[in-house]
Amino acid sequence: MKAIDATEFYFNRAADFIDLSENVRRLLITPKREVQVQVAIERDNGEIATYIGYRVQHNDARGPMKGGLRYHPDVDLDEVRSLAALMTWKTAVVNIPYGGAKGGIAIDSARVSPRELERITRKFIDGIHDVIGPDTDIPAPDMGTNDKVMAWIMNQYGKYHGFSPAVVTGKPVEMHGLPGREEATGRGVGTVTLKTLSRSGRKAAQSTVAIQGFGNVGSHTAKFLGDATCKVVAVSDVSGGYYRAAGLDLPGVLRYALQNRGALTGYKDAEHVTNEQLLELEVDVLIPAALGGVLTKENADRVKAPIIIEAANGPIYPAADDILDKRGVVVVPDILANAGGVTASYFEWVQNRQHYQWGMNRVRQELDRVMSESFERVWELSVERKVSLRTAAYILGIGRVGRATILGGIS
Ligand code: NAD
Repeated sequence: MKAIDATEFYFNRAADFIDLSENVRRLLITPKREVQVQVAIERDNGEIATYIGYRVQHNDARGPMKGGLRYHPDVDLDEVRSLAALMTWKTAVVNIPYGGAKGGIAIDSARVSPRELERITRKFIDGIHDVIGPDTDIPAPDMGTNDKVMAWIMNQYGKYHGFSPAVVTGKPVEMHGLPGREEATGRGVGTVTLKTLSRSGRKAAQSTVAIQGFGNVGSHTAKFLGDATCKVVAVSDVSGGYYRAAGLDLPGVLRYALQNRGALTGYKDAEHVTNEQLLELEVDVLIPAALGGVLTKENADRVKAPIIIEAANGPIYPAADDILDKRGVVVVPDILANAGGVTASYFEWVQNRQHYQWGMNRVRQELDRVMSESFERVWELSVERKVSLRTAAYILGIGRVGRATILGGIS
């Protein structure tokens, strides 16, 4: 199954519950604009390398479109389309005044030099600068991109349009970024994990957690949950998984990754497991925080965790979602679980538009409020309608986007 089919499946399942007509479904599912540009650069060794850059702008009924930029070898138009639609529902679920978009380039950022990465990013912005902007479409970091990439975007966009820090979020704090933006997605994932544990009658201090992916989202989630006294027993990255039944020494793991360019390769104070084995560990909470499509009908039956928090975008395919639902596994969907990132991005955009620097305490306080209130709204809706948290989140998101579309009118 393709990523876009999974997203449309979840959309349609919720649309059935609210009797959405075929015409409105088609209107809400169809992306507003899709852009594909050539990104050609001269590599450090003088060779020419050509990539394709994508930007899909899905929906702007509720405000400027917003979504990350992914650099990963698996990126294609189909994946970007799916992620753009997810952003539309996500911004609506947490009720921030944005639509949804996403971008990406099929590239392994570990295999190009920093100078090449900068050239690729600037060339991409040359290709799309006239369709993005602070009131149109605002990129942000995602897999394979970080605050440095965002700084290059701001700088390159500024060459065409003048000083515009609000064109991109996730920038370095010294360059109009927001204190707390970097940790925000992980903090939000941590917040909804604690709320799910509490709603399920479990105590954080007695709960074990396994996290797949130790990049921006996975590492900050691990730190937040460790600080909240959960026992994080396994983490992983592209090099594989690291498991310790008694609980990992998280400060040690974080220090190791920091000294090893973010990678866990070679970490010794844990048992080595594969990424597939990590998903099947006997834990209370499983948090996929890397790639999409990791839980399928082949392995869903072997998942032992009673709670799954989707920190990554699209980690569970519909067939697996069905199996998990029938088994009573509580799944907190991506469009709620990882919405802390876009929420903090919204704060950064507000800060940039007001030219007024926010402090860390204010960011954390407002982020925790948005995540907690959104979680409670989705949980209550799922109880009211007797549907999964995923369907409840989609019902909430589709309802808000649908109402804005009708109020704005389409002619
Ligand atoms: P990142 O690039 O910082 O980290 C990705 C992590 O995944 C790394 O540890 C990497 O080694 C690991 N990984 C890559 N391929 C893997 C594989 N085949 N098996 C296991 N691990 C693998 O990315 P990130 O920003 O942490 O994003 C992770 C996920 O969270 C993505 O699905 C992204 O869309 C989603 N997300 C990110 C944000 C954000 O603010 N960064 C916001 C919302 C959602």
